[in-house]
Amino acid sequence: MRMKTMDGREIDLKQDTFDALKIRLRGPVFLPGDVGYEESRTVWNAMIDRKPAAVARCLGGADVIACVRFARENDILLCIKGGGHNIAGLATADGGLMLDMSLMRGVWVDPQRKVAHAQAGCLLGDVDRETQVHGLAAVLGFVSPTGIAGLTLGGGFGYLTRRWGWTSDNVVGMDVVTADARLVRASSDENADLFWGLRGGGGNFGVVTGIDYTLFPVGPEVIGGLVAWSASEAPKVLELYRTLAETAPPELTLVALMRPAPPAPWLPKEMHGKPIVALLACYSGRPEEGEKAVASIKAFGKPIGDVLVRRTYAQLQSLLDATQPKGRRYYWKSEYLSRIEPALCAKVIEHAARIRSPHSAVILFQIGGALNQRREEHSPVGNRDARYVLNLAGSWEQAPDDAANVEWTRNAWKDMRSFSTGGNYINFLTEDEGRERIEAALGKGLERLAEVKAKWDPQNVFRTNRNINPA
Ligand SMILES: Cc1cc2nc3c(=O)[nH]c(=O)nc-3n(C[C@H](O)[C@H](O)[C@H](O)COP(=O)(O)OP(=O)(O)OC[C@H]3O[C@@H](n4cnc5c(N)ncnc54)[C@H](O)[C@@H]3O)c2cc1C
Repeated sequence: MRMKTMDGREIDLKQDTFDALKIRLRGPVFLPGDVGYEESRTVWNAMIDRKPAAVARCLGGADVIACVRFARENDILLCIKGGGHNIAGLATADGGLMLDMSLMRGVWVDPQRKVAHAQAGCLLGDVDRETQVHGLAAVLGFVSPTGIAGLTLGGGFGYLTRRWGWTSDNVVGMDVVTADARLVRASSDENADLFWGLRGGGGNFGVVTGIDYTLFPVGPEVIGGLVAWSASEAPKVLELYRTLAETAPPELTLVALMRPAPPAPWLPKEMHGKPIVALLACYSGRPEEGEKAVASIKAFGKPIGDVLVRRTYAQLQSLLDATQPKGRRYYWKSEYLSRIEPALCAKVIEHAARIRSPHSAVILFQIGGALNQRREEHSPVGNRDARYVLNLAGSWEQAPDDAANVEWTRNAWKDMRSFSTGGNYINFLTEDEGRERIEAALGKGLERLAEVKAKWDPQNVFRTNRNINPA
């Protein structure tokens, strides 16, 4: 069968050699044309259309070891799929062997120690579901079908980041199959250099099979949801956002966004498709205090919709899911900001008015707080001066509209880049963003990451990622 080598050459692999891998695996293997192949090979972003030669759906560490050994012995390109949400499509590669982790979704919670062990194929919603049984939560992201592995390996932020830092700041250990096909533990006590690299350096150092997260008391009820106004109110609403966010307690996370109104039942029909401004809030402390903390938002101006209410934390964690379906076309640009300036708000309004699709948005995520209190070198995520994330999120349906939507995103980004700290979020980088943007994302950490890479993966077996190639 035709497969690609690690350096991209095409080779004919003997069928016997591939069959020998299959009998060593507990999980199923799919080839093009098999039921299951398409589901595995496609990722969230339909702009990415790659075809691995084979997919192994791993069922445990032993399957992963067998695949890594097979790739090493036969010089086969490997790619690893967690939740498949990476916008650059890093989970998939033409002609390679894909390790699809989607059958490894177990979660074990130790409520006494406040630690959850999650298998690496888990989606965010899997972990929230099991931890919330105990009134606990890990620091994860905003959209529940996102994979925990990619999110954590690249940093990770969500509603709880202001209180406890990046997701990767709150990992106590990982189980990893290394390039020489050994299953090792990475924690502050064991293989500490590898552990450091994994908390922001992406999938460069091995296949993670499990992640242990520190848990915090959250919910089960929080105050969370959205309030929306017509875009004509945007100057006043964004000024409210700017001032509220500056003084908000760490329990309160505020997100501002501008976009055409989606056809959501909580928004009036006549506003669907019309430009709106919205504030998304989560108060993760006591709901009684949360009600007071968001009162000024709910009372502001004349909202066209308000679903900022007392609800379960698990429900809030999936509130945005429908706006981000698998199979649309997506192109993003992101920058970290240290503050929201009035001039930036004016740019948000200007570029939101030029959006070319009903699904695109300009978003400001608030993340400042605990992450700013750690030392820069604590983990490779770095960017300890970041207090907000600006995300220009292009999203549309048809390939002929690619150029117009990519152009909108790029133009808005070029015009707003000057507000950046200089850093950006590595997990939001698109396919066409290369070395310069990786350097900006990882900053000073890049040098030390290259040392970890040279020690743990000198032959660059794990290369279909934001690669820290030592060469
Ligand atoms: C709709 C949407 C919402 C998002 N929201 C947030 C958010 O709120 N907060 C946030 O921080 N980020 C967010 N992100 C970004 C997200 O963190 C990244 O897209 C991340 O890469 C997704 O992880 P994944 O496992 O789904 O990705 P995949 O595409 O499966 O993988 C991404 C990378 O990780 C590697 N990888 C995956 N699994 C493993 C493993 N087990 N071992 C080693 N390497 C592995 C892959 O090889 C690839 O290089 C969002 C993305 C989307 C599309």
